[in-house]
Amino acid sequence: MERGHYGDDHLAFAELARGFARKEVAPRYAEYEDAGIVPRAVFARAGELGLLGFAVPQSYGGLGVADFRFNQILIEEFMEADCAGVGLNFALHNDICTPYLLQFTTGEQRERWLPGFVAGTRIAAIGMTEPGAGSDVAGIRTAAADCGDHYLVNGAKTFITNGINADLVITAVRTSPERHRGLTLLVIESGMDGFARGRNLDKLGLHSQDTAELSFTDVRVPKANVLGEPGRGFEYLMRNLPQERMQIAVACLARARAGLRWTIEYVGGRTAFGQPIGGFQHTKFSLADVATEVAVTEAFIDKCVLELNAGRLTPADAAKAKLWASETEFRCLDRCQQLFGGYGYMREYPIARAAADARVTRVYGGTSEIMREIIGRDLKLTEL
Ligand SMILES: Cc1cc2nc3c(=O)[nH]c(=O)nc-3n(C[C@H](O)[C@H](O)[C@H](O)COP(=O)(O)OP(=O)(O)OC[C@H]3O[C@@H](n4cnc5c(N)ncnc54)[C@H](O)[C@@H]3O)c2cc1C
Repeated sequence: MERGHYGDDHLAFAELARGFARKEVAPRYAEYEDAGIVPRAVFARAGELGLLGFAVPQSYGGLGVADFRFNQILIEEFMEADCAGVGLNFALHNDICTPYLLQFTTGEQRERWLPGFVAGTRIAAIGMTEPGAGSDVAGIRTAAADCGDHYLVNGAKTFITNGINADLVITAVRTSPERHRGLTLLVIESGMDGFARGRNLDKLGLHSQDTAELSFTDVRVPKANVLGEPGRGFEYLMRNLPQERMQIAVACLARARAGLRWTIEYVGGRTAFGQPIGGFQHTKFSLADVATEVAVTEAFIDKCVLELNAGRLTPADAAKAKLWASETEFRCLDRCQQLFGGYGYMREYPIARAAADARVTRVYGGTSEIMREIIGRDLKLTEL
């Protein structure tokens, strides 16, 4: 079926992203996976090509194009080039951090942060999760004491994507004991005294991504680094989590689609009992199921992307997209991996790495259980 989702501008952007992903990133991706981090120069090169911060207004160096199809196509191209980790590093910067830096910043903050953000020389991260608070965002305990012209921040974050590379960490802190209205967003910058990086965590997949622990010990954060109004951090996070969930959903779809393509190629070439394994009825039926799931998911996710662009995507819709796409991806990749036999377990095969990378999509950005909570609440069952 014709997808009809992208126009000429999107396809031209895809070509640019494809060239960069395949010619400049893919040949060195294994090195990044071994190092557990992507060199900062890769971000700077992406910035040079116009792949970062394209939603930022032109006056700050961006293109002023807030159309999530560009974010989607960028993720798809990195997935197809088998360098998912780098695509997701960029997505964290572009898809997840951009809205905070556009919606809640003053003119002075935009001048200070956005040109470098677009250029890829100021890498962004978001720090919500703490060792004691993940799903329960309102349980955040990192404390920011009001000291007049600055806050004094003490606490720790964990599992922070881009955590080692980040120059700007959008950090959720507690400025008062009120559970929801006591959270504030501060931008904590590299080089601030008392801000330290902990371990670059050893993960099951997504090895090229630096996912780190961060610690804050008496960090003086000027009030000029508050995003929006103090006490409204929880509301801001809830406002932007639907876009974060769409980022994850489009990545899940892209990975499942890439997995299907790799598997179709593989089963055509591998033989057993004197015939290609693609000729067995079981193989055809397995891949027929995967192809169907990918096609149906694509229809829903593409529709959600257009709803997001139109400002109509509700938190429950975004939760459905993330829940469905991540659970589907997991099922599809498992079936594909099975068809590779033992080779599917070897990291040199993209399907093995994709299956390991995919394990986290049902967890980060809100677990499947939390997605069901959000969707269930929207059904207003308690009112029945
Ligand atoms: C690779 C990776 C990258 C990440 N990147 C970031 C990042 O950049 N920034 C950031 O802030 N965070 C990040 N995270 C954190 C991620 O969002 C959290 O891990 C996730 O929200 C779950 O929190 P938790 O790990 O504390 O699990 P917990 O909240 O402890 O959950 C454990 C289990 O309990 C279940 N559970 C919890 N509450 C309920 C409930 N009410 N009903 C039913 N079941 C429930 C969960 O669904 C889960 O199965 C990342 C995590 C990983 C693994």
